[in-house]
Parts: sequence; structure tokens; C-alpha cells
Amino acid sequence: MNAINSSGWKPEMGSGEPGGAATFTGNRALMLDEALIFEIGSTETTGVDFADSAAPTSDDRLGNLARSAPIGLPGLSEPETVRHYTRLSRQNYAIDLGLFPLGSCTMKHNPRLNERMARLPGFADIHPLQPIDTVQGALALIHQLQHWLVTLTGMDSVAMSPKAGAHGELCGILAIRAALEARGDVRQVILVPESAHGTNPATAAFAGYRVEDIPATEEGRVNLEALKARLGPDVAGVMITNPNTCGLFERDLCEISDAVHAAGGFVYCDGANFNAIVGRVRPGDLGVDAMHINLHKTFSTPHGGGGPGSGPVVFSKALTPFAPLPFVEKSGDHYVLVEEETAQDHHASAFGRMVAFHGQMGMFTRALSYILSHGADGLRQVAEDAVLNANYVLRSLNSVLDAPFGASGPCMHEALFSDDNLADGFSTLDVAKGLIDEGYHPMTVYFPLVVHGAMLVEPTETESKAALDQFIGALRSVAERAKAGDAALKSAPHFAPRRRLDETLAARKPVLAWKDPQLAQAAE
Ligand SMILES: *Cc1c(COP(=O)(O)O)cnc(C)c1O
Repeated sequence: MNAINSSGWKPEMGSGEPGGAATFTGNRALMLDEALIFEIGSTETTGVDFADSAAPTSDDRLGNLARSAPIGLPGLSEPETVRHYTRLSRQNYAIDLGLFPLGSCTMKHNPRLNERMARLPGFADIHPLQPIDTVQGALALIHQLQHWLVTLTGMDSVAMSPKAGAHGELCGILAIRAALEARGDVRQVILVPESAHGTNPATAAFAGYRVEDIPATEEGRVNLEALKARLGPDVAGVMITNPNTCGLFERDLCEISDAVHAAGGFVYCDGANFNAIVGRVRPGDLGVDAMHINLHKTFSTPHGGGGPGSGPVVFSKALTPFAPLPFVEKSGDHYVLVEEETAQDHHASAFGRMVAFHGQMGMFTRALSYILSHGADGLRQVAEDAVLNANYVLRSLNSVLDAPFGASGPCMHEALFSDDNLADGFSTLDVAKGLIDEGYHPMTVYFPLVVHGAMLVEPTETESKAALDQFIGALRSVAERAKAGDAALKSAPHFAPRRRLDETLAARKPVLAWKDPQLAQAAE
């Protein structure tokens, strides 16, 4: 039976909480506890009724790979299955439930119009190996999205196939490497600012480069002089996020690009924060050679548990010949999929492919729906409202939380705080856990690394003033408790299905498979 439910609230879950008397079920009104399917399911139960299959014979096609022991998967009846997963889903947090303040993630509302478009059978029910003549509409959509991404970024071309931001970074760096190799120029180093997202150095290292840090200035931007001093014939390029992960615009990017180009290198821009400048700034005008665009951030496609993402990469003229295949092109009235290198300079030196097919069709459909429904004026307003909302959060909270770059003027799309003025013994983690009790997913914590105990809040433009005010009130209340040394905060969250976990242990020794406790005990 339900091992967790039948034992009721463990003392630490029930006592000392407001209204904390243990309940018989372990449920707290609408917050239903739920055990693992292995604990409540039985190998004898199933929600489907198959006819018994014949025992495998020697002439079947399984060779000697037929299972000889029972598979041992727990089963539930259909209504029990529906309840199990519905209960689990209610323990999750989602953008459809409330403000999701994760910095650098652009957790904005996913418009339902996008979903409607993505479900049209002409986009949803096609196969990448279908004859090209039968998917002209889908190719037209990809072509149109290519056009708008290139237009919005002021670049020369775009590779649509990368499947996430980090995948796009790899795509960009591989194009840079191909361009350098094509001119017989072997370089070893990629420069990355201290405030960069972890994927930047990981990408450069994965592509075979040595990563060197560029220091930040006091005010949280790339140190231009230090960067210039480091440039030389061994530097393949720089990876710079703009706006950066401190929520600040890199004002020197044009000068940086000029210096990098003069030294024979290339400029990769991490475009994850494009939401703050879309419709207002074209990265191509800042001298960028390659930049990924997270469709699941700026262009409102769902993040969905880490995927399916989509990270198209835009390229400058210098890198376009090296961009990966395939490309959608228009030839007369017909759309063609360029799958091989051609003599045309456009695809003459493609470095290869990132994926088997053409990318994430469902995400392309949603992103184009978003772009067309907003229009040029709407996209520009997205950036303006995102920046306005972030500054509202920053100015509303900088009297209670330390804002390390608050004096550098307005922020862009996200507000950055530190743990500087919390009471002794209280940390960013305590504030994050306290926010869970207030009904919010915590903000991004301990990133960027340049700020001690960082708390990074990106409200996005899709939150109303009322929603922002409630969030600000919640974060202020938790921060004040952390400043006053409220001991109860050290053991938050109190109202979540689980209390504070040993996160280090969970990361170092994750338990990824369920073991029957009775069997495990018997084995000891
Ligand atoms: C989200 C993000 C990435 C990685 O993008 P994914 O789509 O998650 O792979 C890279 N850099 C920055 C600054 C980001 O915020």
C-alpha cells in the first residue's frame, strides 16, 4: 500500500507548523501526498487488457534476446494511473501557475495562439523524410522564420537546426573553427568573461579550445583593456553575452568586436538574453559573427522540462559559408532544402550537420506565430516592457536587498541582488527556500559567479503590475526575515511536499533507480 501515506505526517512535517496537526492520509487539504508508483503499483495490475501472447519460439525474430524473467513493472488501473500522474503534476510549478522569476531563463507566458498553430496537421503531422513537394508549406514557414531572425538580428544567414542554446553555441564555435582552418590558421584559445553562463566555457572546451577568463569591471561589464591586452594570434575568438548575465548592456561591444577582428579572431555572442533588446538593437550592427537565439526564451516557445528547445544560430557574412546544413531556400515559387554543399558561396564550406534533420518544426511554428502576432512594434515593446519590469523589481527591492550594480544605472531585463546584508548565518539559499513557501519558484541563485550569493530575477514583460507587486512583497518579506535572523527560515520550505533536501548529496550521489526496500534489506 501507500507507504508514505499510511505512515502519515512524519513528526518534522507536521509539528510546529501553522495548523500542523498530522492528518490520517498525510494530505493537507488540496495538497495531496503521493508515493512512488513502485510503492503503490503492483506487477499483477494493469489498466489494459492484452490477450496472452504465445511463449517465444525458436523461429521468432528475437534471437536469444527474449526476456526470460518477469519484467517487474508496477501497474495501476486506469483511474489510479490518472490520479497518480495528476497528483504528481500538482506538486510541480509552472509558468501557467505563477510568476517564474528564474534569471537568464526568460520564463515568459507561452501564448495559446502559438499552440493552436503548432497543432495544425500540415505542421504537426509531417515527417522529415516526406518528399519535398508535399511539405512546401512547412518549408515556407521555416524560410519565413529564417527571414525574420536574420532581419531582427541584422545578420547574414541563419542555421535553424541546433536544438538548444548550448547546441547553438557549439554550432557557432564549430563555424568559427572551420573559418580559421579554411585560412590555415590554427588558434587555441577562446576568451570568456567571468560572468558567462557555464555553457560558454563548456562549449569552447568541447570544441577543443583552451578557455581563458576575461575579468569584469567594478560595474559588472567586460574589462575592455584587459581583453585588448590578451588578444593575439592564438585567440580564435571571444564569447560574450549581451545583455550580460549581470543584467547589463555591454556598451563596448563595437569596440570589442573591432579589436577582436583586427587580431584575426571572431566574436560569438550568447544571445540568450535577446529578449531585452529584440526590436531595438541588431547584434549584427555590433560586429557579432555568430549568435544563438533561444526560441524558448525570447520567442515564447515552451521550456518543457529542459526541452524541446530550439537554438537557431545567426551568422555574419564572414561565417556564412561555414554554417552547417541544411538550409531552406526559395527557388522561383518552390522551396528547396539544401542538404549538400554547393558550389554557390553560400554553402560552399559547410562544416557539416548538427542534427539528422531540419530542427524543431513545432518550435518554429510557435516562434513564427509569436513574431507575426506581435509585429515590429509589438516586439520592440516586448524588450521595453521586459526592461521596465526588471527595473521596477530592482528599485522596489534595493532598499532591502543589496544590489551590487544598482549604482551603475538602470538594469536591462533582470535584477541582480547579493547576500551582502543578510543576517550572519543566513544565505541566498534560505531566501530561495523561503520563496517556495510563498508559492514561487525561486529565482536563479549563485549565478552569475561574479557576485557573492547572487539572486537573479528576470520577471519578463508578460507579468502584470499586480503580479510583480505580489512577488516583490513576497521577496521583501522573506528578505526581511533573513535580515532579522528568523530561525524558521533556516528550515524552510515548511509548506512544500518535501522539506529541505541535502542537495549536495543529491547531486553527488543521485539515486536514479528505485530499489525494493525489503529486497535491499534482505541483501544486506
Ligand atoms: C539559457 C542560457 C544558455 C543555454 O541555453 P539552453 O537553451 O538552455 O541550452 C546559454 N547562455 C545563457 C546566458 C543562458 O541564459
